[in-house]
Amino acid sequence: MPLPDMHAAEPIPDAVRGEIDRLLQSGDLFRYTAAKDAPVSLLEAEFAEMMGMKYALAVSSCSAALFLSLEALGLPQGARVLIPGFTFAAVPSSVIHARCKPVLCEVGANYRIDLADFEAKLAQDISAVIVSHMRGHTSDMDAIMALCDAAGIPVIEDAAHSLGTLWKGRKIGTIGRVGCFSFQSYKMINAGEGGILVTGDADLVARAIIMSGAYEHNWKKHPVLQDAFARWQNRLPLYNLRLSNLSAAIIRAQLPELDRRVMAGRSNHDHVAERLNASPWIEVPQPLPGEERAPDSIQFNLVGLDDDAVTAFADAAGASGVKVQVFGASPDNARAFWNWRFIEDLPDLPRTRAMLMRACDVRLPVRLERAELDAVADVLLTAVEKVAPARAVA
Ligand SMILES: *Cc1c(COP(=O)(O)O)cnc(C)c1O
Repeated sequence: MPLPDMHAAEPIPDAVRGEIDRLLQSGDLFRYTAAKDAPVSLLEAEFAEMMGMKYALAVSSCSAALFLSLEALGLPQGARVLIPGFTFAAVPSSVIHARCKPVLCEVGANYRIDLADFEAKLAQDISAVIVSHMRGHTSDMDAIMALCDAAGIPVIEDAAHSLGTLWKGRKIGTIGRVGCFSFQSYKMINAGEGGILVTGDADLVARAIIMSGAYEHNWKKHPVLQDAFARWQNRLPLYNLRLSNLSAAIIRAQLPELDRRVMAGRSNHDHVAERLNASPWIEVPQPLPGEERAPDSIQFNLVGLDDDAVTAFADAAGASGVKVQVFGASPDNARAFWNWRFIEDLPDLPRTRAMLMRACDVRLPVRLERAELDAVADVLLTAVEKVAPARAVA
């Protein structure tokens, strides 16, 4: 079985061509030109309904959604925002963009937020929390919400890579005050770029809408309690982080595909996980009880191998055609916190660091067939046997 192309995307559904042609014909690409039913507005209505949330605001990226969420919370300059030490560099960057200070907490070997460290840091003058469901791994949202609610601290969910994930039957991204999602190409829905936030808070979404670039009276085109807008007219900066109608059309065409992709991604992941877990050198962390994942990649830890063997494993797998990223092993990985040198007083997080030095990341596009998944698993298992120290056979 030849190895699949692990980077090729799934084609965008053909059904969108008519709508794209219509947009090209009319040149109507700006969300606020049409009096109503612009593709961006329709996307917001459909996404809110799909997530069971009152309001949605589509924007240019998940990073923009995170930034606008922080701005819409009205945090003062320099406010401390607690984030996990394992996330994508876009997350601390959005905090800095909002003129706040990122405070990092430890993440365990299972890629979930270390709750003891989270609780300790939460007591250190924190004004808001961003929970990043990194690679779709969900931390204990019951414990996090209980701690934050008790302290009156708002929670923003970075669900960029978690569309379709459930926590005890609830959709990830709908549990905190705001949830943010990405439509960048490596996420479950691919529009190249794009993002959306959902919330039930009319005042918060009204502010985010204005700041996203609903200048003058364009906010009247959003079905949000109109009183929530009037008081903010001319009082907020306009950052122009809007989504275009073309992107919205491409996203809308993929919404009906989501359930199939989630199911395929989960079954693909679980199949490869089961094969990898048969190796004594590989451990795929279990989901938390109540977590139903929507993965399009797999993460696993190498156990009992030293740094050289870890590097040799990634090299051997790569030479056989499967790219493995060890989060902490390259000098420029954007998910290794020590590479976020734009943060002042960057702390050390020994537990997170230890995890990042052993945690491997392999893409597993949801379109892969069973035989292709087995070919990928075979490469990984052969590579680890090649570099693992000799061991006695029982
Ligand atoms: C992709 C991603 C982001 C950033 O999303 P963009 O739409 O590219 O800004 C943020 N957080 C996580 C966990 C991501 O995976």
